[in-house]
Order: sequence, then structure tokens, then C-alpha cells
Amino acid sequence: MTAWDSAFLDTPPLMEEDDRLPPAHKLYALRTLPLGDIKAVGFDMDHTLARYRSPEIDELAFKKAARLLVRDRGYSPWLLEIDYDPAFSVRGLVLDGLRGNLLKLNRERQVVRATHGSQALTRAGMESVYGRRRLSTAAKGFRNIDTLFEIPESHLYARLVDGLDQGILKAENYLQLFKDVRWAIDTTHRNGEMKAEILQHRDFFIPQRPQLALALDRLKRAGKKLFLLTNSEWTFTDGVLGHLFNGLDEARPHWTDYFDLIVVSSRKPLFFTDSLEAEPISGHPRAFTGGSTAWLEAQLQAQGEQILYVGDHIYGDVLRSKKNASWRTLLLVPELERELKLLEAKGHDLRELFRLETARRRTLRRASVVQDQWKRNRGRRHLLGPRLSTEAMAALDHEATHLASSAQALQQRVDLLNLEIQGLLSAVEAAFNPMWGPIFRNRDEQTRFADQIQQFACAYTGRVENLYMVDPESTLYAPLPTLPHERREMVRG
Ligand code: IMP
Ligand code: MG
Repeated sequence: MTAWDSAFLDTPPLMEEDDRLPPAHKLYALRTLPLGDIKAVGFDMDHTLARYRSPEIDELAFKKAARLLVRDRGYSPWLLEIDYDPAFSVRGLVLDGLRGNLLKLNRERQVVRATHGSQALTRAGMESVYGRRRLSTAAKGFRNIDTLFEIPESHLYARLVDGLDQGILKAENYLQLFKDVRWAIDTTHRNGEMKAEILQHRDFFIPQRPQLALALDRLKRAGKKLFLLTNSEWTFTDGVLGHLFNGLDEARPHWTDYFDLIVVSSRKPLFFTDSLEAEPISGHPRAFTGGSTAWLEAQLQAQGEQILYVGDHIYGDVLRSKKNASWRTLLLVPELERELKLLEAKGHDLRELFRLETARRRTLRRASVVQDQWKRNRGRRHLLGPRLSTEAMAALDHEATHLASSAQALQQRVDLLNLEIQGLLSAVEAAFNPMWGPIFRNRDEQTRFADQIQQFACAYTGRVENLYMVDPESTLYAPLPTLPHERREMVRG
């Protein structure tokens, strides 16, 4: 449990595991996960096994897509001059292509922060468009920024919206811009140019991490079958994983030696819902394109909860594999390390926020009691007035004056505390991202992104190498789920 959690959830840490691993190396279980029961462990490639140098890779996609829009769709060369801002967008946001907006949602799917183009919307602006209603992001024109690939896409879209609003660009409406950006980013991924450039400069774009091979080796030695399941095509996969694994281990000279089964061009999430034929890749006996869950499970002689899949895409890797195939899931959250560092750096402020919030709630409770006493006093005065002696009336009025001034003093204290909390909270949130704050939280609420992780991931961690730190036969325990009424008794004594 982080300082932030205990600050805002007011929950005592329950059965915190006594491991001494630094937070950045931990696997955080959300559902108890007996690794001993896992027969096969699968890996996604992009942003999971392979971590690309960021923000350079995002800038590459941004620039290539902008160039395509100018060259093939007649957009103004103004697009080529836009600087890429790595802090502009974060994962977990939702793009509203109909209105030109980017949104941060809380776990009730209500909009809590928003921009129009690249400009922040005020609370009133947000409320006038979205109100407090629950937003269905599956509707037409919405796009979830669920993977790191979508970060440059949301940034490019926002700048196009700016261009249209300023009269620099011409388009029918915001949705037209949305469709054009989608086309440009999609083409950038598909036409092979960007991938060729990444492979050409692989030493720069794909940092090597020798611990990765150790992590896979440890799982293999424990008797787990390993498989690769990626949407990337063979040539790119071969280039990336060859760069990361070849020649690291004499016993496994080639990257394919680490895997019992290799599936490329897997078309996730369709892989989990459709039955596509698996086509062998010639010259590589364990490698295929396409395929389906049933086929993969037959190949590995493992099924459902005996399979653990490790991926970075909350929808394509985790939600679908869990819902459709009942696989166990480990979500890679590359942002986790930075978020952990910031939580640590801001620990003092978070504790101060906790103190202030506790004082605020206590003062509000006292103010409400005093207010109630005042109301009852006035009620009595009204009802009994004619029957009371002059002295009794004066005493009642004296008490009422006293209660009113107490209520006023308490309210002033609440106002001061509110100001202090607001100032400190804004500074803490801005350290995560000036526009969006932390990806898991907004003020004292969880985000939609955090909620999705809680709903669908069995565990999450910052990097695949962390699997090296875990005994492959051990069990990862989730925190005990408790409702507020159960907590007191569970932690007493
Ligand atoms: P995975 O994460 O290993 O399953 O692979 C993701 C693959 O999807 C990579 O090859 C990406 O280049 C590709 N990709 C990401 N976004 C898009 C897109 O918008 N259109 C087509 N391919 C994409
Ligand atoms: Mg991926």
C-alpha cells in the first residue's frame, strides 16, 4: 500500500507482505496468484518484453504521421513545425473525437479533467458538455489511450484541433481530424517505414536489458512452458527479440530457444474471440502466425487458469484474455517506476494532506453538531417562547449566540483547511503531470484506468525483469478485500 493510498483511503495496511524488495521490483497482486499452478507463461512483445526508448519512439510516430497527413491528405505544412511535447498526454485518457477533447475519467466514468485541443477546460466548461453523467467510451468517436502507442496519436489530434480552431487547418469537423489522425498513425505502424527505422537504430531505440533473459531462464528452469504472443509481424519480432536475446546465454543462443511456442501477427484481441487458422512460419518449427486460444492451449497442453499472460494492453492483453480464456494476467505498467518515485518524493506532502484532511473532516463533523444544536435551540425558542420566563429566554438566546459564533469559527477553519488542501494537492498532482496529475488518481478518487486494472489484472508490475525476483512456485497474495464495516474488527488487537 502506498503513502497515497493510506492517506486517502484511511485503511490500515492489511497483512502487508514482509518482503524486502524495493517497490519498483515488486509484483503487486490484486488477486491471489499461485504461481506453482501455472504451467505456461506467455509474453506480449511491444512495450512488454521490448521497452522502447521514450519519448523518442513516440516522437518518431508523431512526426511520421504528421508527414503522412501533409503528403497524402493535403494538410498544411504547419503540422511539420509542431514540437512534440512528451508530457502532453498520458495513458488512461479518453479521446473524444466528436468534440476535439481529451478526457480523464474517474472510476464512475465521469469526466474529472479535460482539454479541448491542447487547452485545459475549466470545470464549468467540462460540466456544460459532459455534466456528471457516466460516459460510455465504447460509443462512436471515442478512443481509449490504453497503450503507449496511443500517446502520440492523442497529442497529434489535440494539435490538429488547435489548428482547426485557429483557422490554420481546414476540415469538415473534429471527427474528420480524428479519422485522419487514426489513418495516419495506423499507416505509420503498417507501412513498415517506422519499424525499419527502429530496427536500423535498434541500439538506440531498444535498450538492452540482460536481466530479461535471466527472468525467462528462471521460469524455464522451474518447468514452465514459455510462449510469445504478439501482434507484431515476424520480421520485426525477429529483429527486436534477436537484438534483446541472441548470444546472451550459451545454452540458448537464439531468441527462439527461450520459447516453446511463438505466435506473431496474432491479431489480439480477436485472437481471444475468433478461431483463426494458425499458419507455420517456414524454417522455424515452433513459430506461427494467427491462431486462436483453443489451438494455443492444445499446443501447450495447458488451459485457462494454468496460463499466465504478461502484457501491457489493459484491453487487448489483459481484459480479453481473462474474460474469454480465463487466463491469469500480469499487467505491465511501464509508468509504475516513475509513479513510485514520485510517491516517495512526495511522501511528506501526502502525510501532511492526510493530517489536513483528517482535521477537515473532524471540523466539519463538529460544525454540523453545533449547527444542529443551534437549530434545536431556535426550535425551542419558537415553540416555548410565550411560556418561558424572561431569564430562561435570555439564557436560550445567549446559548444561540454562542452556538452561532462557534459554527462560524468552525466554518472559517474549514475554509482555511480547504484552501491549504487545495494548494498542496494541486502541487502534488502537478508533479505527476501538470495537465493530468497522476494516472491512477484524481484528488481522492481512483481513475477509470486504475479501476480497469483492479477489475481485470491478477497482478501488475513495472517491468518483466521483476519476474526474476519471484520464486516461480510461490503464491502472490492479494490484499484482503474488506468493506468499511469489517475493517475495525479485523485489525483490532
Ligand atoms: P504487441 O504489443 O506485441 O502485441 O504488438 C503491438 C503491435 O501493434 C506492434 O507491432 C505495433 O506496431 C502495432 N500497432 C500499434 N498500434 C497500431 C495501429 O494503430 N495500427 C496498426 N498496428 C498498430
Ligand atoms: Mg504490447
